[in-house]
Amino acid sequence: MKTFCGRANPTTGAMEWLEEDENYDYHQEIARSRYADMLHDKDRNVKYYQGIRAAVSRVKERGEKAIVLDIGTGTGLLSMMAASAGADFCYAVEVFKPMANAAVKIVEKNGFRDKIKVINKHSTEVTVGPDGDMQCRANILVTELFDTELIGEGALPTYEHAHKYLVQEGCEAVPHRATVYVQLVESKRMWSWNKLFPVHVEAEDGEKIIVSPSEMEDCPGVPSVCDIQLNQMPSSDFAILSDVVTMFSVDFSKPVRSASTSYRVQLEPVKSGKAQIVLSWWDIDMDPSGMINCTMAPYWVKSTSAFQWRDHWMQCVYFLPNEEPVLQGEKVYLTACRDEYSVWYKLQKARGEEENKAAVRVESPVCRCQAHLLWNRPRFGQLNDQNRTRQYIKSLTKVLKTDSVCLCISDGSLLPVLAHYLGAKQTVCYFLFFLKFFKANNLEDKIKIIEARPELLTSSHLEDKKISVLVGEPFFTTSLLPWHNLYFWYARTAVASHLTSNVTVLPQSASLHMMIVEFQDLWRIRSPCGTCEGFDVQTMDDMIKNSLNFRESKEAEPHPLWEYPCKSLSDPQEILTFDFRKTVPEYSLSTEGSVNLLRKGKSHGAVLWMEYHLAADISVNTGLMQISNEKGNCEWNPHCKQAVYFFSSVIESETLLDLPSAVTYAINFNTKTGEIAMDFKL
Ligand code: SAH
Repeated sequence: MKTFCGRANPTTGAMEWLEEDENYDYHQEIARSRYADMLHDKDRNVKYYQGIRAAVSRVKERGEKAIVLDIGTGTGLLSMMAASAGADFCYAVEVFKPMANAAVKIVEKNGFRDKIKVINKHSTEVTVGPDGDMQCRANILVTELFDTELIGEGALPTYEHAHKYLVQEGCEAVPHRATVYVQLVESKRMWSWNKLFPVHVEAEDGEKIIVSPSEMEDCPGVPSVCDIQLNQMPSSDFAILSDVVTMFSVDFSKPVRSASTSYRVQLEPVKSGKAQIVLSWWDIDMDPSGMINCTMAPYWVKSTSAFQWRDHWMQCVYFLPNEEPVLQGEKVYLTACRDEYSVWYKLQKARGEEENKAAVRVESPVCRCQAHLLWNRPRFGQLNDQNRTRQYIKSLTKVLKTDSVCLCISDGSLLPVLAHYLGAKQTVCYFLFFLKFFKANNLEDKIKIIEARPELLTSSHLEDKKISVLVGEPFFTTSLLPWHNLYFWYARTAVASHLTSNVTVLPQSASLHMMIVEFQDLWRIRSPCGTCEGFDVQTMDDMIKNSLNFRESKEAEPHPLWEYPCKSLSDPQEILTFDFRKTVPEYSLSTEGSVNLLRKGKSHGAVLWMEYHLAADISVNTGLMQISNEKGNCEWNPHCKQAVYFFSSVIESETLLDLPSAVTYAINFNTKTGEIAMDFKL
């Protein structure tokens, strides 16, 4: 059987549907999955184990047999914990076939074949009865179906169904309850991920301000959760406006309702400011008393001794539909609305009780301005980065002349507007842009949008003019890895016949940089686990390894490294350059070499990023901003993902003497496919 997988082609910028082996999808799923991260989450595992032991004891004390239903068993871990804790029988339900197969193997290997039955079904398909999947209803319900938003993976409908059909009334549940917490903050940094701030341009004929359309001002944005490693957000980047309050909680031992609903709390701001953001996280109590608690609270809320790094559960950033000024001590109401899978927030001033009650239902956010569909949150942040904009303004000022005919190639870019204000005689652009934006700035008849892909550009699109300045950020929404934005080079090649002989291309070139790093925590997501709480889960490690090596093509993967601290073990090194003044060559670009390890540490992998050279002495860097101290701690561009290539074996060096003091690399940019292949030897 074949399946079709969507993948952007970096040489055409277009989405292509490739026919893939049926195994491709699931290898991707496993290779990039969070199973390894969960198995490394000691705090989670220990607390589940404690909670499960306590629940089994309570049932046994009542003189009942302990029958466990484990929904979403994954590796079978929680069922094995239950069986070890003395459960009489466990039904381990797992919908994802490769995982269910792995669970069977792992359960067998650990000697629980007689105690655990793996059922490869979605829990809502499971039957109960003498001929059913389960002989009888369970009296202990164990699950781990939570995402950063708690309910985003469908925990509520799954629980609702389980209570109706699969478990006994008054059953024990591990976890017993989940509680969602919120805190109101003002944060220019986070707000810049959701709204476009006015852009100031010093033009020859005075200052111009690029504004966003009014629809954008009060657009509620998109409903998808913004989940981040909030612990990497320095306290100087936000102001706390309220205490932490409980927004809602769910008791998993009682029937659960998944239907849409809302919750409201009264807040008394501890500080005056602009309410913009609701920060949110949850905790789970593994037992009814609340003694076994696993929390996602960020650093300023919980004591650091309890700190556990994890990537499968982070914290949520919710954007209020509009920023709302609040006064210290003047009460406001915060409403959380949820449907089966997502949560969103609204803030109201505390006026009349009745008035507020009437207005409680809030529609699920739907972007009305189109900007939130075109720009994701990091992209908003990037466009709001004034430093970055300044580099483009400076370089455009250098290259534009009054007779310049300028073509902009980048998705949802402000460059055409900048070029227009900075004096280009004519500016044309193509690629995802929204007319509303041009209209808001009265530019709709000043900048021409061409609706043709570069290879289809004709001289009539350009009114028979030749392009004298070709610009790009470059940025394309289909890019996953840093070098996918080299599509700009391909587009430049495709429009070559429309360029003047002395065309200025901006950026004139790009370079690929690389550095060897030791991660503080990110290494866990790709690191084998071996045993977990005494259970042998090597089958899972092997499965992940096998999927990572599927077709022997280990690939770099994108990660926003500002969220994942690391230290540099080598100097950053420029390894390839791409000259946009020339067309894409026929042959591949490759390089080999070695990079010296300068600090002791564990070489977890290589980080790669792009730098764009806009004009002489003006560059935009999408990767390493600086190494901030002698320990080698790195600061990364906060709006971009960098490429991480995890080494399959980690070399640890305690002293600089016992190292392999260099890592050798071979990097190949295949100009036919636009992909970069790499190989490292330690
Ligand atoms: N219980 C394991 C794995 C948790 S990951 C552990 O704690 O380590 C959650 C798993 O639940 C995934 O493998 C997913 O495929 C599965 N899953 C989610 N909802 C399900 C449902 N309703 N029925 C069956 N499996 C489900």
